[in-house]
Amino acid sequence: MKETLVENRLKHLYALQHVDSQLQEIQELKGDLPNIVANLEANVDELKTKIKELNNTIKKAKTDRDSADGEIIELQGKIEKYKGQQLQVKSNKQYDALTREIDAAEQRSSKLEKEMETLEGKMQLAKADIETFTVQLEEATAEFGERQKELKEVNKEHEKEERKLHHEREKLIVRIDKPDLERYERIRKAKGGLAVVPVKRGACGGCFNRVPPQRILELRQNSGLYQCEHCGRVVVSDQIVETSMAV
Ligand SMILES: [Zn+2]
Repeated sequence: MKETLVENRLKHLYALQHVDSQLQEIQELKGDLPNIVANLEANVDELKTKIKELNNTIKKAKTDRDSADGEIIELQGKIEKYKGQQLQVKSNKQYDALTREIDAAEQRSSKLEKEMETLEGKMQLAKADIETFTVQLEEATAEFGERQKELKEVNKEHEKEERKLHHEREKLIVRIDKPDLERYERIRKAKGGLAVVPVKRGACGGCFNRVPPQRILELRQNSGLYQCEHCGRVVVSDQIVETSMAV
């Protein structure tokens, strides 16, 4: 039989399906590992960020505490000075004015002491959190390293095969018309990776529903692209399956 255009389209689509199925199989062999590694890496990054933020919190609290401490020392100096002046003033009015200054300085000073306490508490909490997160980070980093190594080995194992398949895929894709390719990708996405299936014992190789005998006859004649009326997959004849590998 002379090779028709439809026959070529079907052969290329089936060949592409074959390549994609093999790629999918490799992905399945790798299982959850790529996901696990990505999650572990995100976990490590998150812990690093948390520790960094806590260190910044401590740094800021320290600066604030030191500045409060400095101001308290300054206020104590002022209070001493006012008390000294009180011994020398002549009028009650001057004396009372100094008393008010002393009260204000003492109030400010005790407010700053409370602030310092709060800041100290904040630093202690942050330090405790850093310790906890550091232990977690060590564990997460170790696990990430281990799993990453595992993934690298698995990747290496399939690297050659994958590269070969990707190469085949590229060669096939340029030979397939855009509408066919888009239809193929759409069905593949919707149907768990399987878009082109052979007829098996009179049934669709994807959903196993019966294909009408008249359709099977038409399929053998490669008169057009036939999509299973139950699952929508493109159904091809045995002849296409057998010859597509030679494409
Ligand atoms: Zn079907």
